[in-house]
Amino acid sequence: MRFIPLFSGSSGNASVIEAGDTMLLIDAGVTFKALSLALASVGISPERLNGILITHDHSDHTRGVGVIAKKYGLPVYANGGTHLKMEPYIKGLPFSSIRMFRTDEDFYIGDINILPFKTPHDASESVGFVFTFKGKKLTYMTDIGCFRESMLNIAAGSDLVFIESNHDIEMLKNGTYPYYLKQRILSDRGHLSNDNCAKALIKLYETGVRFAVLAHLSDENNTPEAAFNTSSVALEQAGIEDMRIVVAKKDAVTGIFEI
Ligand SMILES: [Zn+2]
Ligand SMILES: [Zn+2]
Repeated sequence: MRFIPLFSGSSGNASVIEAGDTMLLIDAGVTFKALSLALASVGISPERLNGILITHDHSDHTRGVGVIAKKYGLPVYANGGTHLKMEPYIKGLPFSSIRMFRTDEDFYIGDINILPFKTPHDASESVGFVFTFKGKKLTYMTDIGCFRESMLNIAAGSDLVFIESNHDIEMLKNGTYPYYLKQRILSDRGHLSNDNCAKALIKLYETGVRFAVLAHLSDENNTPEAAFNTSSVALEQAGIEDMRIVVAKKDAVTGIFEI
């Protein structure tokens, strides 16, 4: 299984997952041009993609989905709530390109098994994904206001966890965002703080997880250093030394991860 985060952050999200003969795009919250350049930079021709999976309707995950799907003739997979809400972003997409999945029911696209699971976030039917292929498992969960026990069970033992580490709580509280937006982000249906991400990593470690990519960092209320250090220090204090942590880049390819 290969996993390539192309963009990750409040301003746009897209990743590629590949296993066997199947290659999928996860979210398309960037422009057609930005996506094309990013794919080209890792040697992927967009024609090889088998579809686009959407986590939820927010524009940083859906901005480019209509244009990208139409240009490359890709099916768009989402649950009912997300399809309904992202209609403005997929105007003109042929009906045959619309694929519906149900939250908590796994399905296959080609060789990859996909389990969409509910995530706590203020979108209509927000999900994360577990991808499995030949005993390898990757869990993808950004835009999570909190880390629930159910999510721990779902992500347990993953070979790679792509998990939100959105903000530093003090930076957010002291920052320029209006009060309502700060409250939204801090709520259980907003975004996961660096501190809560670190706590989640310790629990995930106990289930066998040894590799995490910290994702969806806020432009204004976080830095890659703050995200990395918060988790590293927490893991160290918990006596954990063998967990690999990488911080996803917001507007460049983070890396090509083979698991
Ligand atoms: Zn969101
Ligand atoms: Zn987002």
